[in-house]
Amino acid sequence: MKVLVVNCGSSSLKYQILDMRDETILAKGLVERIGIEGSVLQHEKTGNGKISIEKTMKNHTEAISLVLEVLIDETNGVIKDMSEISAVGHRVLHGGEKFTGSHLITDDVEAGIDECCVLGPLHNPPNLMGIRACKQLMPNTPMVAVFDTAFHQTMPPVSYTYAIPHEYYEKYKVRRYGFHGTSFRYVSQRTLEFLGMKAEGSKLVICHLGNGSSMAAVKDGKCLDTTMGLTPLEGLAMGTRSGDIDPAIMKYVMEKENLNIGEMENILQKKSGVLGISGISSDFRDIENAANAGNERAHLALDVFAHREKKYIGAFAAEMNGLDALVFTAGIGENSASMRKSICENLEYLGIKIDDNKNNIRGKDAVVSADDSKVKVLVIPTNEELMIARDTVRISSSL
Ligand code: ADP
Repeated sequence: MKVLVVNCGSSSLKYQILDMRDETILAKGLVERIGIEGSVLQHEKTGNGKISIEKTMKNHTEAISLVLEVLIDETNGVIKDMSEISAVGHRVLHGGEKFTGSHLITDDVEAGIDECCVLGPLHNPPNLMGIRACKQLMPNTPMVAVFDTAFHQTMPPVSYTYAIPHEYYEKYKVRRYGFHGTSFRYVSQRTLEFLGMKAEGSKLVICHLGNGSSMAAVKDGKCLDTTMGLTPLEGLAMGTRSGDIDPAIMKYVMEKENLNIGEMENILQKKSGVLGISGISSDFRDIENAANAGNERAHLALDVFAHREKKYIGAFAAEMNGLDALVFTAGIGENSASMRKSICENLEYLGIKIDDNKNNIRGKDAVVSADDSKVKVLVIPTNEELMIARDTVRISSSL
């Protein structure tokens, strides 16, 4: 059974086609600048290297159409015709309170995703465009929606309720939702499998540290709390996002700098985080290089980043009344041994002790804590596409 996984942004589209008999990736790629001059498709058939196709793509339908053309191409393709794609899995950012798991995309589900556009205005509309484009080109192929928020729907009210007038929750559904849920679900399951532990009674803290970063407390295999909120702006300091701040900062800076609310939000979304502190870059490799060369603000940016994780590790351990494993994943979590080390520093009282030698790895499943560390520290590379493909198989096979 071959499954196509699609992740649509406003002007981009990422895809993977997997053979689910052995869960291997047959091909993957990325379309960029959809609807903008200079649109381009980069495609990689496993084992064949990357190819680039420059072609005007006015919308997501034209982008998907080119992806399908490449997938059936004699040289670069991996299937004979479109009918070989048994189902399509779509990543959808926001499922609100409506979607607590993945769903076959029916007209009702599509309407539900549309309703959630107010909560995810930057992502849900392009996610829907991708769904509609695929439906148009593959009308008889089952489509499944996998939501970034769904894993967090097990959070209790005490975790998701903001201390603001309750009517805003009742009227507008203002609450913590959390994101990166598909990653947390994959990594928590893989961690338990890797450690040979049962979900019941387990207490995990997972750090998904990438361009966007968030953490989750996962107890009994279910999400208990997470750092992102109504939107992916809350929580950790990120590449360009501020994460937690005193909300009063907004009015203060807006008055001083004569900014309107849109300009202020743009600063918190795109000009803050480690980019804002360092003034150098949002990419941790650049900041680590600058810090190693003695740049003070680069140092401070890395320290603030690690400090916030440390705070939440303590908070989540307190909420769960203990901790079995601390897990690092995504670009920074999988690759930066120095960031893992600084986050774990001075957490001995919690039973966290990293082993410098074991920690000297990247991008593979591994325990990196000392043998006598009470809490296991792990690196588990995330695989959201595989999780989406597995859900797509499970749901479409039961039709
Ligand atoms: P996204 O959130 O876009 O999926 P990723 O999970 O791919 O992002 O993470 C990308 C980030 O990972 C980059 O911005 C970079 O800061 C960081 N990163 C990647 N490789 C390394 C590395 N070797 N050392 C430190 N940071 C890295």
